[in-house]
This record gives sequence, C-alpha cells and structure tokens, in this order.
Amino acid sequence: MSYSKEQVLDALRKVTHPEKKKNIVELEMINDLEVNGKEIYFSMIFDKSNDPFIKSLKKASVKSIKDHIGEEAEIEGNINVLAREKGETAQAQEKQEQQDISLPGVKNIIAVTSGKGGVGKSMVASNLAVSLAQTGAKVALVDADIYGPSVPKMFGVENEKPQGTQVNGKTRVLPLEKYGIKLLSIGFFVDPDQALIWRGPMASNAMKQLFTEAEWGEADYLVLDMPPGTGDIHLTLVQSLAVTGVVIVTTPQEMALADARKGVAMFRQEQINVPVLGVIENMSYFKPDDMPDKKYYIFGKQGGKRMAEEMKVPLLGEIPIDEKIMQGGEAGRPQALDWNSKTAQAFKEITANTVKQIEIRNQRQEPTSTVKIDPDAKGCSY
Ligand code: ADP
Repeated sequence: MSYSKEQVLDALRKVTHPEKKKNIVELEMINDLEVNGKEIYFSMIFDKSNDPFIKSLKKASVKSIKDHIGEEAEIEGNINVLAREKGETAQAQEKQEQQDISLPGVKNIIAVTSGKGGVGKSMVASNLAVSLAQTGAKVALVDADIYGPSVPKMFGVENEKPQGTQVNGKTRVLPLEKYGIKLLSIGFFVDPDQALIWRGPMASNAMKQLFTEAEWGEADYLVLDMPPGTGDIHLTLVQSLAVTGVVIVTTPQEMALADARKGVAMFRQEQINVPVLGVIENMSYFKPDDMPDKKYYIFGKQGGKRMAEEMKVPLLGEIPIDEKIMQGGEAGRPQALDWNSKTAQAFKEITANTVKQIEIRNQRQEPTSTVKIDPDAKGCSY
C-alpha cells in the first residue's frame, strides 16, 4: 500500500499558517515531497529560520496527515525545515565556511554513510579505499565518524600520531600512510568518549579541521567515512565539501533498510541534491567454507536489492558475512588486501561499479560544488 503525493498535499492544505492565514501548500512552503509506501518526506520552507511557527506548523502537519490519511503514516523525523532568506550574518558565515574547505588536488569525494550504526559502514569505507588503491588510483581515507571512529584500528595505526608540517607559515597536519592510502581520523584529535556528548556545532567544527588543517595533496578518490544517520553533521559535510556522491551501506534487515531509505531521501532532497551513487548490502549471506554451494540468508534475502530498485538507485554489490572481516578489522588489516578472499572478490565488483557510477555522474553533471543551504536552518529535521 502506498499513499499518493496528492493525498499528502490534500492533508497539508488543511494546515493554515496562523499569521498569513493561508494554507501551507498555497504558501509554497512544501517542497521535495517524496512518498515511499507509508513513509512521507518533505521540506517545509519558512521565510526566516527563526519563524515562531516552525514547531507548531510541523506538529499540525503531522497531525493532519495522520488524521486524513492514516495513523500508520510515517512522518515524524522526516520533515526537513529550511529557510528562504538568509540573514546577513548567516550569509557571511556561510561564505566563510565554504571558502574554508577546498581540496584542489582531490578529484572525487565518495561519502560512505548508513542509516544506522553497526551495519559495516566503516568496514566498507576501509575496504573500498583499499580496493580503489589496488586499481592504481591515489586514495585518501577520512574517518569522520565522530561517534565511533574505527578506521585507526582497522588500519592498525591507533597508536600513531599524525605529524605537523609547515606550509606557507601555517602548521598543517600530514595524513598517515598505510597500505598506500593516506588517512586521517577524527579519532586522532578527539577522545571518542567526549565526542558522544558533543553538540552539533562542536562536532561539525572538529570535522572541518580534518580537511582544512590537513595537507591532503593529490588524490583520485577521497573516501569519507561519515557518521551513521541523517542529521546536522551530514548537512555540514555536504555544505562544506564538494562531495561527488554518496554510497549508502545497509544490511538486509527491515530496520536497517528503513533507515537507509531515509538516507537516500535526505540526500535527494532538492536543496541537498547530492548524487546517490548506490547502495551496498553488507552481511548479505553466509557461505560456509566447507559447503561452498550453500548460501544462508541469515538476515533476510535481497532486501538491499529490493530497496535499491524501489528507490531507483544502483545496487553496487553484496558482501557476505565472513568472520575474517571482523578478524581483519581487529588485526589492522582490511580483508580486501588479501586478493583471493571472498571479501576482496566482493569489493572488486563494488569498486568497479562505484567507479562506473562516478564516471556516469561526472559526465552528466557539473563538477561538484558545496551544497548551499541556509546555515541557520540546516539540520532542523526533527
Ligand atoms: P559501522 O561503521 O556501520 O558501525 P563497522 O564497520 O564498525 O560498522 O562494523 C561493525 C562490526 O561488524 C565490526 O566488528 C566489523 O568487523 C563487523 N563486520 C562488518 N561487516 C561484516 C561482515 N560482512 N562479516 C563479518 N563481520 C562484519
């Protein structure tokens, strides 16, 4: 069962802006409406980011949709609030922020993200970086997962400290190098226990330092391990960095898929509009070594494929469950380094598909620029 956009708009027409005395559809406040089964997503655009009616109109919209379409409509958390106009200070601040991050030597930035934690996002980012480097490309890996930076451990560099260098009289951080990949992690700069209690702006600033204060030099691909979820930090990153495209990692379970869909919908919103290069399904099945003809779909079968078809994004590949992945993570050696492993095979396909999608994307679209959203309004998605 799926609701239609018209049904949603009809329900929203019943919500009136208390000051302007017109309904919010008529006021052209609704944008990027996406309906996926029972899940409804849209942006609500206010003239100012401090409009006093933001909260009450969001609440009224949810209520009206539930009253007129059905209680089971999934809408909470899916409304993205944006502002039409920027205050002068906000504009200046945005300009400053956007000037800050430019990585002229980096050709493509691939942001790896997931709807929820624990689905193997960092494992994918690490192995994708390794696998891209195996094609002869110059690769950098940035671990921006502030809530659980795991790249240092996966590369066995958790006890190393990046060195500083002087460039034009300024101190810059030199990324570490391991397995031919330049890498930096937010974990080198902050105590992960503290990161958990950081508020949005603090986390965002720390994140930006990874780019602005580091000497990245030349790279064909910079793989970015993003935090899981859809929130402030994601918006900061796409506003500050010219991301080429996003790769979304999910497992086949319904819960993970639902959150991954939210991720796709967020990046697709008109104001954000970062290309989704595709979906990677991790933990797709288990294939015992002593019974190579058998495949056990422990977490469900082909949920990632179905979700990719529904959302009209490419499925970049499927990664089987393999205890060696976990062991490789513990030992600081990503599995893709072992050419004959099941994981390396899976990543060969994933890498080829990702590179293909990047080529298609770069042919069809302009070179990436940062996403421009009113900084005061960014991330107001509750
Ligand atoms: P996330 O970044 O999404 O939180 P991680 O990449 O840290 O997830 O992975 C979580 C744990 O699951 C790690 O211990 C990792 O080694 C393990 N893992 C991930 N994918 C697989 C897989 N396909 N098979 C076995 N273990 C896996």
